[in-house]
Amino acid sequence: MPGLLPLVEHAVKKPVWDCRMCGQCVLHSTGMTCPMTCPKTLRNGPCGGVREDGHCEVKPEMRCVWVKAHHRAATLPLLPASWRAEVGHLRPPVDNSLQGTSSWRNLVTGRDRVTPAGWQGVEH
Ligand code: SF4
Repeated sequence: MPGLLPLVEHAVKKPVWDCRMCGQCVLHSTGMTCPMTCPKTLRNGPCGGVREDGHCEVKPEMRCVWVKAHHRAATLPLLPASWRAEVGHLRPPVDNSLQGTSSWRNLVTGRDRVTPAGWQGVEH
C-alpha cells in the first residue's frame, strides 16, 4: 500500500526526533537532529542570528537546532565516525516536492539524492 510507509516512518521518527517528514532525511549527518525543526528550515546552519546563550533568534525559548546538531555530532555515543564528520558537509537545498513522502523509500530509490538543476554543491 503506497500510503502506508510514510505513516509508519512518521510514527517511528516523530516521537524521537520530532521528524517533519521532509522526505530527504539527514538525521545521520546532523547528530540525529532534524534540521526541519529550525524555524528557517536551514539545511546548512547555523544562521547568523544565534543568541549568545546558544538559543534561536526566531524562537528564544529553544536552543538553536544547529548548535545542538554540532554538539550532538561531536558527543552522541555510538554515532559512527563517518556520520560525525558529515555534519560539516554541504547539504543540497531541501526539495519541497518530497514533503510528506517516505525518506526510507527515497533513500532506496535514490530520489533523495537528486539535486536541483544548476546546483553546484559537492556531493559527499
Ligand atoms: S538561530 Fe539556529 S534554529 Fe534559529 S533560525 Fe537560526 S539556525 Fe535556525
